[in-house]
Order: sequence, then C-alpha cells, then structure tokens
Amino acid sequence: MSDKYRIVLREDEIPKRWYNALPDLKTPLAPPLHPGTHQPIGPADLALLFPMELIKQEMSPEPWIEIPNDVLEIYKLWRPSPLHRAYNLEKALKTKARIYYKNESLSPAGSHKVNTAIPQAYYNKQEGVKKLTTETGAGQWGSALSFACNIFGLVCEVFMVKVSYQQKPYRKNLMQVWGATVHASPSNLTNSGRKILEADANSLGSLGIAISEAVEVAVSDPSAKYTLGSVLNHVLLHQTVIGLETKEQLKLAGEKKVDAIIACVGGGSNFAGIALPFLKDKYANPDMKLIAVEPMSCPSLTKGDFRYDFGDTVGLTPLVKMYTLGHSFMPPGIHAGGLRYHGTAPLLANLVKDKIVEAKAYHQTECFEAAVLFAKAEGILPAPESSHAIKAAIEEAKTGGEKVIVFNLSGHGNFDLASYEAYLSGKLTDYEYPKESVEEALKNLPCIE
Ligand SMILES: *Cc1c(COP(=O)(O)O)cnc(C)c1O
Repeated sequence: MSDKYRIVLREDEIPKRWYNALPDLKTPLAPPLHPGTHQPIGPADLALLFPMELIKQEMSPEPWIEIPNDVLEIYKLWRPSPLHRAYNLEKALKTKARIYYKNESLSPAGSHKVNTAIPQAYYNKQEGVKKLTTETGAGQWGSALSFACNIFGLVCEVFMVKVSYQQKPYRKNLMQVWGATVHASPSNLTNSGRKILEADANSLGSLGIAISEAVEVAVSDPSAKYTLGSVLNHVLLHQTVIGLETKEQLKLAGEKKVDAIIACVGGGSNFAGIALPFLKDKYANPDMKLIAVEPMSCPSLTKGDFRYDFGDTVGLTPLVKMYTLGHSFMPPGIHAGGLRYHGTAPLLANLVKDKIVEAKAYHQTECFEAAVLFAKAEGILPAPESSHAIKAAIEEAKTGGEKVIVFNLSGHGNFDLASYEAYLSGKLTDYEYPKESVEEALKNLPCIE
C-alpha cells in the first residue's frame, strides 16, 4: 500500500549500492584516449585530475558499488526523494496514462546534482585532497559542489560561464553562502581563459571553456583536484540512486511494468540516474521506451556525430567517443543553461547508438508551455532543463492508452524566474541549431576511428 499522491520510502530504504551499467552494455564502451598521443589512457593518466577511488569506479567491471556509510548519512538530508503520481496533470491532460515524477528538486541545491557532489567530495577528502575546482553553467553543479565541499571542509573554486554569472547572480550567491570562490569564465586567471579573451574580449563563455579553466587550476596545484558534474561514468553511477529508489516506489504504487522513462539531457547524468536501473527491464521488454530529451538549440544526440571529441573547448581533457556538436560549439544563450554542452556522456551515447535509448529534441517555448501547465497542476515550478522531460512526458501521454509514464523532475526553477519572466512576456524565441554549424565545428575534430 502507498499514499495516493506521494510515494515515499523510509531513510533506511535509501539504496546501499549504486548500479554500474558498464558490464551490462551490449557494445563495450570505447576507451578514452590521451589528448596528445591518441592512445587509450589508464588510471595513472587520470590521477592528476581525480582521486583513485573515483578512477576505479570510472572503469569498474563490478555491477554494484557500495555507497560509503558517511555518504548515506548525508544523503538522508534529502533522500529518499518522493515519487509523485501526477493526478492533477493527468486530469489537465484528460489522459488515461498514469504519470509519475521523481522529485529531485528537494535537495539542498535544488537539483539531482548533490547526489554525486557528496560522494565526489567524500572520496577526495579521504585521499587527502584540500581543494576542488569545477565549472558550472547555470550554477546548479557549482552550488551542489559548494554545498558538498562545505560539508567536508574542502576549499571550492568554481568557474561560472560568464553569461550565467551576469544573468543569474543568485546561484552565485548561494555558492558563496556555502563558502565557495566563484569566477566568471572566461577569466584572466588561466592560460585557457586568456587565450579565449584574446580572440574575443566579449566572449560570454561556455561550459567547454570553463572546464578548460577548472582543469588547468587543478592540474597546477598538487593539493587540488578537479570535479565534473555530469558526463563521466562515476557521475552517472552515483545518480543511479534515483532510479533504484524509483523502482521500489513503483512497486509500492502497484505498477508491474513501466512503458516510458523520460529525462532531460545536458551531459546525461540525471537521465542515466533514473533510466539505467531499468536497463534490464528494457532488454526484457523492447517495447519499453527510455527517452532522452534535449533542446533543439543544443542537439548533441539528435544532430551530433558519434565520434571521438574533447570534453572541453581548448582540448585538455581526454578524448571520448560520444555524440558531439564539436568542442568549438558555441551555444546560443538559451535559458536551459544546464543543457548547454557540446557533448554527451559516452555511456548514454553508447545506448543511443545501440538504439536502447531514443533521443528527442524540443524547442524552448513549447517546454516552458509544458512547465507552466505542470506548475499549475502540480504546484512545483520546474527547472527550465526539467521542462524538456515534462514536455516529452506530455507528448507520450497524448499518444493514448493506459501507459505508465515516469519522468525525472531533475530540479526546481525557483532561481530561474528571469527565464519565466522572458517566457511570460513573450520575449523567448525558438532557435534551431543549424546542421551546417555542426558540420563546420566537426571539421576541427581529430580524425580517429
Ligand atoms: C545540470 C542539470 C541538468 C542537466 O544535466 P545532466 O547531467 O544531463 O543531468 C538537468 N536538470 C537540472 C535541474 C540540472 O541542474
């Protein structure tokens, strides 16, 4: 038996292990390559950037990885998160579908990102690291990491994409409350930042540039390491706590099978978090859909190429095989800041390539329309990123039938009211990233087969 609207688990029902999908892939993941030599890299190559325990997780053949007790204890501040049955949204849509959403907006920083910020800070602390650097787009990852560093007594230095730094000061303030130092990127603190500013003094920045800066600072300080809020296998691994809980909650709700699991994609971590624990269900039932949703203005999965590319703009990170728009991709200033990345998680790209996951893209105004409908029905203001999942869930419900549809509400939009203001006053326009620009950017890629 469960409650009608909110299906909740107890603290002691937080999963004790993360699920690692690597051993369950149909096609093994292509190895990451050294940015200079183009040879496969090993643990030693990554040791400058990450602590050994995270590197082990990055390449682990084990299907289950124990969550440390200290991490579980901190997870209890916001986990298990509720699974909601969206009765009011169903009513508004006049659908027979049963729509559920997993609510990751209740975490300290307001999104799923703390699920990985905490273990990342924990393992770094364990291995004697004193300072963590990172990049952030709209500020969600930066604030999650700032909170985690504050918990473990680590220094936190964040490079925030300049356009967000200027347009969305409030998450910067949140990071500062938790004790982090925040720089607008490109900055003149790093060689990478100076190089970009020389070429374009008015550069608004991008995630790729901010990554270059954060990596450079970490590599030049022996007591510092770098962290990433998405894309890497270990980040996706930590997020599987979302889907593992969801599975238990759907059982409590009496659902025996799910027809669609939906989440938005920036780098792919919240999607992987909710969807990977259902991977074997998908193998057993090919009719089940795992739907990854991205913006039309940054369409890596739907318009990018599946090939090796750098994770950053300058070319400091290893080369990974993924769907990419080219690392020189300069995203338009759309509001779903957290989705503005040229690449995708290699693990997610692998599943899209193998047709296990299907990708969809929507325009931002139709997503905001869905977000407002959702906010009116369910009372929660979604993050602009999450609105892409809502839009796809609504479209899925409209296809008819008594389907069970589950989507991940990756975060709330309480810090994103400027973008709602733009939408409500009719100032938002749709933008479709042209295929020609993708082809142009892909010309700069190293040729590796
Ligand atoms: C960062 C972010 C995303 C996108 O990142 P993924 O790694 O793809 O999950 C989506 N929603 C919210 C609220 C975010 O903060």
